[in-house]
Amino acid sequence: MKIPCEVVKDLLPLYRDNVCSDESRTIIEEHLLECDTCKKYLDDMDGDFIQTNDEKAAEQAKSDILKGIKRQLFRKNVMVSVISVICAIAVLLGGFSFIFHYQMPIPYENGLVSVKKGDNGMVDVYFNRDDYYCSYKWNTTIEKNGVKQRVAYIYYTDTIWTKYFSKPQKDKQYKYTINNSAFFDYDDDNRFIEIKKDISAVYYLDYSHIPKLSTEELQKNSSKAVLLWKK
Ligand SMILES: [Zn+2]
Repeated sequence: MKIPCEVVKDLLPLYRDNVCSDESRTIIEEHLLECDTCKKYLDDMDGDFIQTNDEKAAEQAKSDILKGIKRQLFRKNVMVSVISVICAIAVLLGGFSFIFHYQMPIPYENGLVSVKKGDNGMVDVYFNRDDYYCSYKWNTTIEKNGVKQRVAYIYYTDTIWTKYFSKPQKDKQYKYTINNSAFFDYDDDNRFIEIKKDISAVYYLDYSHIPKLSTEELQKNSSKAVLLWKK
């Protein structure tokens, strides 16, 4: 039975995939023995099939690479986001800390501070402006004109907040007493006693760096101090 090539070609895909009937298979195989054109057609189909498989593998590989790149990009994006958030928090905290805690000594100006001797013999220091961040005091013995005297240095600091924004605080002390600044020791009977140190003068001076200075440097710096009160 001679079957036209076109019919065989239609059947070849089924033959190749092994899904045709035994009858068709026999007919096709007989035809292929005699027809080089259809044989070549079948060989080409197998070639295409293999090539298709190769292409599929190549596409799979490409898609794997793409997925890999996407994953890497995703990880990178996540990292960038996390780092951005951390940076933002750091900047906020830094800004917060800078605005509320970065101390700037307040330079002396007229009326900033007044010092008065109270009835009890103590010396009271009043801060006359809206607000400050911290007050500092420090006592030492200096020699002025050949006379040794105990003096107190004071100064105040601002932060950006206290300088530009805050108002007087109810719970803040705008007055404090520095006279006879006391330190404690034990007397002969081993009792805890307060030793008074009479202050003979109070100066305003940013001495934030002074405790580290030598006595000579201290003398030099103390000449910059503004006398607020003396005995
Ligand atoms: Zn044929």
